[in-house]
Amino acid sequence: MAEVLRIENLSFAYDNGTLALANLSLRVKEGETVAFIGPNGAGKTTLFLYILGLLHRTPREVTVMGQTLSSPQAVEAVRGQVGLVFQNPEDQLFCTTVFDDVAFGPINQGLSAAEVKERVAEALAAVGLEGFEHRVPHHLSGGEQRRVALATIYAMHPRIVLLDEPTSNLDPRGKQEVTRLLKQFPGTQLIATHDYELVLTVADRVVLLNQGRIIANGPPLEILANETLLKANGLEMPLVMRYFLALKSQAVADGCP
Ligand code: ADP
Repeated sequence: MAEVLRIENLSFAYDNGTLALANLSLRVKEGETVAFIGPNGAGKTTLFLYILGLLHRTPREVTVMGQTLSSPQAVEAVRGQVGLVFQNPEDQLFCTTVFDDVAFGPINQGLSAAEVKERVAEALAAVGLEGFEHRVPHHLSGGEQRRVALATIYAMHPRIVLLDEPTSNLDPRGKQEVTRLLKQFPGTQLIATHDYELVLTVADRVVLLNQGRIIANGPPLEILANETLLKANGLEMPLVMRYFLALKSQAVADGCP
């Protein structure tokens, strides 16, 4: 599979001197879903903003689809190919209708009115909100708002979607709906999350960050079952994992393979 993102030896400090990313290197293949876990302040959000060229206008350490973002032209060229779904949908939805919010990206991409309409319908169908074009975004439920926020990004046909805490503040049904959508999404996804059920359901790989460094990078079941590793990095083993491991050891004790 083709490599869509490469980061080489990235370090970044904010103006106040806080080192948010330290010597970070990462490769992501087309179609992969990678979950970023870590305690608050680990650097997950900073990493996403950096990939988008929002913290450094010409990030030489970031290569998207073979193009190193070392010039403003290169950053411009990959904008629209990488979309960020904000943690809070209210930061993403600022129009008076769902149509206008979802159309905003495609209009800025210079598409014709007919193409924009098609993109909006297709993106709303992808998130299960057909016919919501004329609804008022801030009158929708939390789960619906999150799905419209996803549609605003899907409508731009990005090659990579970055998602910051996509299931935070949702009720169990809203969480399930968003998890199902992310599971179905065929493209490349980078997800910053504390939701381990989401990680276990959708991620191909987990990257554990702490203090701006990659501490572990591997299969979700391996990393989320490593209690020593999690505790050493300010995290707890998820309950669902404890349950799974208890069942497994019981099965072994009972003589199952
Ligand atoms: P996470 O998303 O994993 O919670 P962040 O990327 O938000 O982590 O933060 C990484 C580090 O950078 C933290 O120490 C945080 O306090 C610091 N930080 C984040 N944003 C800023 C900012 N605008 N100015 C200064 N320091 C910041």
